[in-house]
Amino acid sequence: MSDPQHVLVTGGARGIGRGIVEDLASRGIKVTFLYRGSQELAERLVAGLHEQGGDVSAYPCDVRRSDAVKEAIATILDREGPVDGLVNNAGITRDALLFMMKDENWADVIETNLYGVYHVTRHLISHFLRRKQGRVVNITSVAGLVGIMGQTNYCASKAGIIGFTKSLALEVAKQGITVNAVAPGYIDTEMVANLPEAKREELLKRVPMGRIGTVRDVAGVVRFLLGDESRYMTGQVITLDGGLTV
Ligand code: NDP
Repeated sequence: MSDPQHVLVTGGARGIGRGIVEDLASRGIKVTFLYRGSQELAERLVAGLHEQGGDVSAYPCDVRRSDAVKEAIATILDREGPVDGLVNNAGITRDALLFMMKDENWADVIETNLYGVYHVTRHLISHFLRRKQGRVVNITSVAGLVGIMGQTNYCASKAGIIGFTKSLALEVAKQGITVNAVAPGYIDTEMVANLPEAKREELLKRVPMGRIGTVRDVAGVVRFLLGDESRYMTGQVITLDGGLTV
C-alpha cells in the first residue's frame, strides 16, 4: 500500500484531532473528520483549509451512538469516496476518585473512548477488508499503560483501546490492514488546559524533557503510522510522552 489517499479522523475540530487534520491536509491528503459539539470550529477549519488548497470535509457524529456512526460512514463513503486510513481520536475525561465516581461519568468515558473506537472501526472495517487495504491508528494514552489517580474510568478505557488494537491487528493482518496505537503523555490541548494550574506545574516537573507535548508531536507519529514507511508494523503502541513513563 502507498501513502493514504483519504483519512477519516474522529474529533477533528479541535485539539489533537485538529492537529492531525491540519497536518494531513497540508500534505495533500484528503481528510474527512467527525465532530460532535464543535460545529462552528469545524466549519471554520474546513473553510480555512479549503482556502489553503486542502480537500477537507466535516460531518457531525456522536461516536457513542452506533446507528449514528453507521449512517455517517455510509454517507461519507458515498459522498467522499473510499477511505484508506482511520484515526480514532475522539475522547474525553471525567475525573473522580472511584469512591466518588458517578455512574454517568464512568459510562460517558467508556462510551466515548472505548465504544467510540469500537463503533467507528466496526462500521469501517468491512470497507477496508473488501479493499484489502487500510490503516487504523487509535489514540490511546499513557493512561492506558500506567495507573493515574482519579482516572479509573479513563485508564480503563485507554487500556481497553490497547487490547482492542492488538486483537484487531491479528484479525486483519492477512488482509494487509495494519492497526496501531499512539499513547501520548501530556499534550497542550483543552484537556490539559482544564487541569488546575498547580496540577499542571506538578505534571511538568515529572516530564524528563521538561515540556508538555504539542499536537504536532502527535500528528507526526500518526502520519508515520498511516503511511507506507510503517507497512510492516501492526499491533504496536508508540508512546510519546517526553520520557514521562520511561
Ligand atoms: P480535546 O478535549 O481537546 O478534544 C476532544 C475531541 O473529542 C473533540 O474534538 C471532541 O469533539 C471529540 N469528542 C468528544 N466526545 C465525542 C463524541 N461523543 N463524539 C464525537 N467526538 C467527540 O482533547 P484532546 O485533543 O486533548 O484529546 C484527543 C484524544 O487524545 C483523546 O482521545 C484523548 O484521550 C487523547 N489524549 C490526550 C492527551 C492530552 O494530554 N491532551 C494525552 C493522551 C491522550 P467536539 O469538540 O466536536 O465535541
